[in-house]
Amino acid sequence: MKAIGQDTLKTRRTLTVQGKNYEYFSLPEAAKTLGDISRLPVSLKVLLENVLRFEDGSSYKVDDAKAIAGWLPSAHSDKEVPFRPARILMQDFTGVPAVVDLAAMRDGITRLGGSPQKVNPLVPVDLVIDHSVQVDVFARADALQKNVDIEFERNAERYRFLRWGQDAFDNFRVVPPGTGICHQVNLEYLGQCVWTGEADGKAIAYPDTLYGTDSHTTMVNGLGILGWGVGGIEAEAAMLGQPIAMLIPDVIGFRLTGRLPEGATATDLVLTVTQMLRRKGVVGKFVEFFGPGLDQLGLPDRATIGNMAPEYGATCGFFPVDKVALDYLHLSGRDEHRIALAEAYLKAQGMFREPGAPDPVFTDTLELDLSTVQPSMAGPKRPQDRVLLKDVAASFKADLTKGLGVPANEAGTSVKVEGKNYELTHGDVVIAAITSCTNTSNPSVLVAAGLVARKANAKGLKPKPWVKTSLAPGSQVVTEYLDKSGLTKDLDAIGFETVGYGCTTCIGNSGPLDDAIVDAIEDNRLVGAAVISGNRNFEGRVHANVRANYLASPPLVVAYSLLGKVTADITTEPLGTGNDGKPVYLKDVWPTNKEIADVVASSLSRDQFLKRYGEVFKGPKQWQTIAVDTGSDTYRWVDSSTYVKNPPYFEGITMEPPPVGDVKGARILAELADSITTDHISPAGSIRKVSPAGDYLLERQVLQKDFNSYGARRGNHEIMMRGTFANIRIRNEMLSNVEGGMTKHLPDGEQMPIYDAAMKYKAEGVPLVVFGGKEYGTGSSRDWAAKGTFLLGIKAVIVESFERIHRSNLVGMGVLPLTFKEGTDRKSLGITGEEIIDIIGLEKAITPRMDLSLVIHRPDGKTDTVPVTCRIDTVDEVAYYRHGGILQYVLRGMATAA
Ligand code: SF4
Repeated sequence: MKAIGQDTLKTRRTLTVQGKNYEYFSLPEAAKTLGDISRLPVSLKVLLENVLRFEDGSSYKVDDAKAIAGWLPSAHSDKEVPFRPARILMQDFTGVPAVVDLAAMRDGITRLGGSPQKVNPLVPVDLVIDHSVQVDVFARADALQKNVDIEFERNAERYRFLRWGQDAFDNFRVVPPGTGICHQVNLEYLGQCVWTGEADGKAIAYPDTLYGTDSHTTMVNGLGILGWGVGGIEAEAAMLGQPIAMLIPDVIGFRLTGRLPEGATATDLVLTVTQMLRRKGVVGKFVEFFGPGLDQLGLPDRATIGNMAPEYGATCGFFPVDKVALDYLHLSGRDEHRIALAEAYLKAQGMFREPGAPDPVFTDTLELDLSTVQPSMAGPKRPQDRVLLKDVAASFKADLTKGLGVPANEAGTSVKVEGKNYELTHGDVVIAAITSCTNTSNPSVLVAAGLVARKANAKGLKPKPWVKTSLAPGSQVVTEYLDKSGLTKDLDAIGFETVGYGCTTCIGNSGPLDDAIVDAIEDNRLVGAAVISGNRNFEGRVHANVRANYLASPPLVVAYSLLGKVTADITTEPLGTGNDGKPVYLKDVWPTNKEIADVVASSLSRDQFLKRYGEVFKGPKQWQTIAVDTGSDTYRWVDSSTYVKNPPYFEGITMEPPPVGDVKGARILAELADSITTDHISPAGSIRKVSPAGDYLLERQVLQKDFNSYGARRGNHEIMMRGTFANIRIRNEMLSNVEGGMTKHLPDGEQMPIYDAAMKYKAEGVPLVVFGGKEYGTGSSRDWAAKGTFLLGIKAVIVESFERIHRSNLVGMGVLPLTFKEGTDRKSLGITGEEIIDIIGLEKAITPRMDLSLVIHRPDGKTDTVPVTCRIDTVDEVAYYRHGGILQYVLRGMATAA
């Protein structure tokens, strides 16, 4: 991968910062050719810089730069441009398969006669292990230690592997378990606003941009760093230096005015923003914030708003860098020279937000006066369902018999909990969790939670005994300032001991509830409630037994733990009775904005960031003492592991890719309807006992209770390919009245699981195809939907239309995406699943979007031939396909370079 392109537009210039020279690709210079671009949204200027820097006449063209400049004046475009981020951020769930592929590439390059040491990420990768810790132990002084111990025991296989990766790869850093949450670590430490590299022996400066393998990567948009969550294959492609094509998006401008009023928090603000943007409809669009309200909005508040871009549906929620961002860089311990570079570079590029400068041109705008934001929560099922705090009780009661489906005659059910001295009823809060990078990155709301705890504690209040309480900071800096302000003691005193530094309840790792509470809920179909400072609350996300989930600010989480229910109006009813026998109300424990600001100002400092991030890659003793196999540049795969396996992508690889041939004699593995999602293709939930994946685990003496989910086993292709098309809701039209991942093996007609049939065909040497309808592969981008398709032996997927990312993922795995011509589809062609299929035309040179011939051999001996469009869309994709996939393409390139 070349660090820079050929600079046809001659925009390369030099910037001198504190005596050091940096080369950069100047937007003002580009404007001399492209026309006035000063009022492009800053987020699009970042895309334009990417094109200028990499323009090579092939993957990146001058026309791409013109297309971005041409977004003005209509503020819309239907053109695609390539984008290559500066770096990659991963979390452990999604990062493991990427590291597995890198390790497999090292084996592959050895087969090609190259050196394994040459296989490394080509752009910097940071993997933060944050998704695995659970709240097993809580409200105890030793909760943190116990939970870390259990986490290491549970995840030994995966951690051993990642620990090896930490030592083995260049350009790859692992932030160990127990350190923090990926997005908060990114905000507080990894993100730099302006990144630097080297080309021709000179330092190059460019915007810090990233892809993350987690949807809330957008949190760092609050710091002016453009990035968003992508699926595993895009992340791997980017990690290996490949550009990803993207539509030049519409950009919605969100104008902020005023300032937050007394009593309203950043959480109330983000829930308001989420509701507004959901109503607007911003799916697939960028959102960029502007207006005078930005001057009143602290950096952590911006990050909280950026974080929830997936909840409002946008690709990103971007805040351009300004003085507030520079101040935050200083506070959080960033290198002073880098801060000076960021300021100089972004000003030179017209990317720095100056108060009073003309507003950018946007596709559309909406506006919020911050002073109108009111205390709220969102729930019980969706983040956009914001309810004013004073209305929560009434809204829950209304929801109980509607959305939550409790019969009216059961709405008043109250049951004694076995062995306890209390009863439970609908709407009792059983989980109160201060969780999620969304909020734990924001000192104001955490200090507010601590102050509520302090005041409640002083009055002698305690959480209700049925509430599971927890505090899971997103970084150790939180502990520093809570300790310094003395608030740790107050939080501990009311059960909010720190349980771990990780996602915990936010990702659903809320841990077990008391058995007696679970029995009471299950036996009486009670709707238990959770109040958490997370960002997602769909049913089942927080805990299997908790159906009503409210998103709220950390101080409200503490307040609801005291109240113990969502059925009382927390603004008017007492939280409990104080030591003096008098009722204590929310207003009695709620801190003023000034109290919060004073504590933040006196307890948060640059030295805390420097101290905690000075040892960010060290990890707890359990991490440091993992025995690492340093004797080999390739990973010594452990045969008995059911979590990490060497995938077969490079078996038999040769230096020259074999010639591309037509597909002949293929059987149809499945015939599917419209809107097949990636979740249909590659389920993420639990593994059923009666399934090929269940059989695999049982055969290896894994008990059903230890099956874990498909998500946790993403590092094992054997499990994932057995799960492909195994969704219990998928319907294969080749079978009537059968739901689940079944098919018919032909010509014998035997009905069997799709995986079993695919393996039988493989043994017989029969290639496979899949037919589908419209919007094939919609839903969140999931790498295993394409990888599993490839591993089953499917050569082509033939549909009416594809979801954009899944189509490119299929090409990335060497699977042909084909679309029917207008007016034809599987039904009009009379496909029943019994046909034999040829795909002709591949032996000639492949060109983007060329026509191929689909030959349909019918069971009655007739043959029909129809044209289809080959949806290999770019010259880069042609190369990937010719090599059998993107990994093989990059590997051969590395081997040649070696
Ligand atoms: Fe995602 Fe929640 Fe973890 Fe943040 S804390 S990375 S939002 S799961």
